[in-house]
Order: sequence, then C-alpha cells, then structure tokens
Amino acid sequence: MTTNDQQQPAVRPGKVYLIGAGPGDPTLITVKGLELLKRAQVVVYDYLASPKLLKYVPKGAEFIYAGKKGGGCHAHTQEEINQMLVDHALAGKAVVRLKGGDPFIFGRGAEEIQELAKFGIPFEVVPGVTSATAAATYAGVPITHREFTSSVAFVTGHEDPTKAASNIAWDKIATGIGTLVFYMGIKNLPTIAENLIKHGRAPETPVAVVRWASTPIQKSVVGTLATIAQVVKETGITPPALVVVGEVVKLRDTINWFEKRPLFNRRILVTRTREQASELVRLLEDRGADCVEGATIAMEPPESWDELDAALTRIGDYQWLVFASINAIRFFFGRLLDKGMDARDLKGPKVAAVGVATAEALRDYGIRADLIPEEFTGDGLAESLVAQGVAGARVLIPRAKKAREIVPDTLRDHGAQVDVVTVYQNVQPKDYDLVRQELADGAIDMVTFTSSSTVTNFLDMLGNDRDKLLAGVKFAAIGPITAKTAVKHGLAIDVQPATYTIPAMVDAIVDFYNS
Ligand code: SAH
Repeated sequence: MTTNDQQQPAVRPGKVYLIGAGPGDPTLITVKGLELLKRAQVVVYDYLASPKLLKYVPKGAEFIYAGKKGGGCHAHTQEEINQMLVDHALAGKAVVRLKGGDPFIFGRGAEEIQELAKFGIPFEVVPGVTSATAAATYAGVPITHREFTSSVAFVTGHEDPTKAASNIAWDKIATGIGTLVFYMGIKNLPTIAENLIKHGRAPETPVAVVRWASTPIQKSVVGTLATIAQVVKETGITPPALVVVGEVVKLRDTINWFEKRPLFNRRILVTRTREQASELVRLLEDRGADCVEGATIAMEPPESWDELDAALTRIGDYQWLVFASINAIRFFFGRLLDKGMDARDLKGPKVAAVGVATAEALRDYGIRADLIPEEFTGDGLAESLVAQGVAGARVLIPRAKKAREIVPDTLRDHGAQVDVVTVYQNVQPKDYDLVRQELADGAIDMVTFTSSSTVTNFLDMLGNDRDKLLAGVKFAAIGPITAKTAVKHGLAIDVQPATYTIPAMVDAIVDFYNS
C-alpha cells in the first residue's frame, strides 16, 4: 500500500461508511474499505482499528478518536459517538466510521446504523476480517478442519458471570459446537472454562489464547480447559485477546507460521531517513520484525541551486556524471524536472552509480548506468572510474553538502577536473523523545545503521545517557565504513553483511538471530 499522495474526490457527501478495519495488521483491511478511507472527510475510529491506517486518510480530513472499548476509559460514550456520526453526516460530510475487526461482530455497529436510519441518513457497511479468524490463523489454528470440527461459534466472554439467567446456552455450546471463540473473555476466563467443563466439555480440550493478533506484538499461549486460566495468569496476558477452544488447536504445532518467522518478537530501530526507510522496514517486517522508525537524518534542498543550475547549462562538457547515493539522484532529478528538463537534456557524459540500488534509482529517471563498481563503496566507485582512465576528463558529482572526499580526491589525483555540487543537505531531526523512551524501556532489541551519519547523529541525539539507554542493545551496520564509524564511537557491531546492500543486511540480521 502506498500513502495517499494523490487526493481523490470525497465519497458521497452526507453518507456514513461503516468499515471493518480488520484485526490489527493494517494490510488486512479490505480493498473496498481502504478505497473509501482514502476519500473520507471525517474519520471516527476505535482503539482496536490500527492507527497505521490513518495515514491513508486525505490531508485536511477530520480525525475523531472514539475511544477504548471495555477498558473503562472511554473517550466518548456510545451515545456521543452516535450523535457525532449523525451531526457530521447531516453537515454534508463523507464520514467513515472505522472499527476493529468486523463492525457487526461484537462491534455495536448495528446500534450506530440504527441511529443513522432514524434520521434517514444514507449508509454503507463494509465487512472486515474479524479478530477471531485472524487470531486463530495467526496462531496457527485452522478454525475448522474436516477431521476435527464441523461448526464454530463466536461467543462474547463479556457477560457478567454472576448473572442469574445467562444469554449463553452453556449446556448447548459446551458439547454442541466444535470450535468456540470467545471475544472479550480474558477477565472471565476462569468462569468460561469452568462453565464449559461443568456442561460436559472434556477438561483436556486444548485452548489457545491470542493477544494483539496479527500485529508484530502478538502473543499466544496454549493450555487446556483445565489449565488455561492459570497459564494466562502466569504469562500475564491482558486484553485484547481471544480464546479459541477446540481440538483444532492441536494443529498449531504444524501450522504456526506467523510466530515462526525468523525475526518475530524482535523490535528493531531503523535510523534511516524517512524517505529511505521503507525498503528496510518492509524487508524486516516480512521476516516478522517489529520496526520502530526513528530517522536520525532529515534531508533538505541546498540553500541555493545556482551551482547545479550552472553545471546543467554546460552538461555536454562533462565526460562523467557520478552518483554516490540515491538521495543525490532524487534531488538532482527533482531539480532537473522542476526546471522543465528531463533525462534527454543530460546528453554527453557517461553516468556512474555507486551500486545496484543507485543504478536502479537512475533507471526510474530513464538513465542506464554506464558503470557500477564491483565493491559498492565510494572507494570502489573511485577505483573503477580511475580504471576507465580519467586523466583530463571533466567529472560532475552532485551530492550532499557534507560527504566524504574520497571520490573527488582520488579522481583529481589521477588528473580529472572535478566539479562537486551540493544537491541536498542532511539535517538532524529535533525530536527523538519517542525513541529515547523506547530505549529507556528496554523495548528495542537492535539498532540498524545504514551510513556513518546515522551513527553519529543517533549518538548525538541520545546525548549523555547513551550508555544507559543502549545497554543490551545489538547493532547492525550496512558496511565497513559505517561499522568503523560505530566502533570509533564505542559501539560494538554485531551484524555486518558481506555485500553492502539493504537485503544483505536483513539476511545477516536473520542469520544473527538464528545462530
Ligand atoms: N468487532 C471486533 C470485535 C470487537 S470486541 C472484531 O470483529 O474483531 C473487542 C474484542 O475483540 C477484544 O476484547 C478481543 O477479545 C477481540 N480482539 C479484537 N482485536 C483483537 C486482536 N488484534 N487480537 C486479539 N483479540 C482481539
């Protein structure tokens, strides 16, 4: 999924869309739900709807947090929520009501719709992946299986256990249904298990309890009807969690795919710039990691474009145009396009890229790199250019304001005439409080560094308590230069890949945790 860069027209004004957000993993929302969310003007969302979905809402839309269910600290009462939906719809807004899981499964979605209907307000409902199926699937439990069960029931575990007349026919569900899934059942778990046993379900029936299903912080435990209350107490499982009861839980040994991903349960800090973090985050998350984005560098255009503009007017005089980073490419081409130019105006010089990722970025702008060194470092780049013979050649290097001098210096040493122009500058973000807090809580397992400046900025931003904050944390560096900078600043590098690419670094992190 990409962010909502392109604003789409709002969906029908004056209408309410009740949308199931899915169970926790934001990518489990339906395509329809996401399309509507991207066109909302007001979004009223719940505690259990992933906040990560909010980035798809158009700029300028109004967000309203409807609050936590069952936790006692409601931001708004149900009546207030109903009223808000009515008011915004009557004011002509396209309103999205975003709920965790499926809106009609223990979600009070129907009550909200009934209220809209009273006022004749048009509405649509988009179902969602309910947490019961997600929790079972993500804990490796198939909710049905021909050999084990032919029926499933979703049951509320929220009912007051001391209530004289229960709405739940315990005698019937205990033995009449194969798989039972209890929502909101953690507090009452001892009573639920007792009731089922009392009404004839075998005490050794397997039970799984899954907390924050489908998210990187998912936790699941198993036991039997006889033991599960104790297991949950000992492991400290708190809501939101689901209780899955039935023989199908036995299949978990074979099917538990989600928690067996190699980086599951590892919380990894990504210090790259926000623009560049996505590939690393995606690869780490694919392998099950929980990523914290704490960019240590933000990029800005140079104070003036005069240098680059001047170089572009004489681009045909250069023999080489050299790019040592993707950022340099983005800013260089950003300016080129802003000036009404494009790749066709770069006729003349050959183009060199420091590595495969940089070469790929060039392709996005319609340029095929003429040279990629074998070793993807500045030194490698300089050497391969020298090997081509650069004496007397004119070389243009667009790059960051502050960068290593190895490429221009080496080329000059070999007789080239080099123009270095600034196309962007790195600045330090001011706010790093969230990351500091995570480190202080001991929540981060590993920090990844993808350049020397990520190391120095990171340490700079931690300030004097760095040693306390970094106790027990592991470090990964993308290549030897970055590692050297880290070591120079007193950090021990635990992971360093043989090739200096993001995918290789992720593979090395997986190897590290698996060895
Ligand atoms: N409409 C929602 C359920 C709301 S009731 C749905 O279809 O999933 C709230 C209860 O749902 C919680 O107490 C918990 O039992 C369950 N729940 C919701 N999301 C969950 C998740 N990610 N992991 C485990 N349980 C979850």
